[in-house]
Amino acid sequence: MNLEQRLRAVRDRIAAASKAASRDQPTLVVVTKNHPVDLVRELYDLGERDFGENRDQEASLKAMDFTPGQNDYRWHFIGQLQSNKVKSVLNYAGFLHSLDRQSLLKELAKREANLKVFIQMNLTDDPNRGGINPEDLVAFANQVMEVSSLELIGVMAVGGLDVEPEREFERVASASQILQTVNPEANQISAGMSGDFEQAIAYGATHLRIGSLITGNSH
Ligand SMILES: *Cc1c(COP(=O)(O)O)cnc(C)c1O
Repeated sequence: MNLEQRLRAVRDRIAAASKAASRDQPTLVVVTKNHPVDLVRELYDLGERDFGENRDQEASLKAMDFTPGQNDYRWHFIGQLQSNKVKSVLNYAGFLHSLDRQSLLKELAKREANLKVFIQMNLTDDPNRGGINPEDLVAFANQVMEVSSLELIGVMAVGGLDVEPEREFERVASASQILQTVNPEANQISAGMSGDFEQAIAYGATHLRIGSLITGNSH
């Protein structure tokens, strides 16, 4: 299958899973990491407008090279973001899926970062893993909401190696409910990757981050 066929197959599966779950179709963020800007251009020509990257060094160059003429597309930063890269990421990203700690929030506040953000949850049983633990979510969300340049839109989860996807999606859905008690508008859920996006849709994901299933193997 070529890129167009792989993309079409994923779109069909998203449509079918959304229908089966009686949910609106989520936003597809195509993860273009490890692929050249030409792939982003092809995806754009095929109608995609949301692109995900996880490393600033790679993403910033790609974002600079990608100039389709219309400003109708969005870069989503989805990986762990080091504080010293925030300034660079703000040059291109509109979304940050991985707001995972206090120190990053502080840096975003300092730079008056204009971003839509998801709070990245730690939904594993290991409290030392990256992300915000569910019991700390409300307090952290309140801090995020104090930064007026940021728009808190929801919660995000990355598949934990030691947790069944369904268990994890159940937990992220419950974290989303908790977040909505303090911010009813922050009702978005970033969850679901190549291997588990249909289950994520069933549990209410609004943003899927799908890479390899669409882009194929990296070059
Ligand atoms: C790479 C990546 C994805 C996409 O993973 P695939 O399995 O290739 O779909 C999603 N989320 C994050 C945070 C990633 O780093």
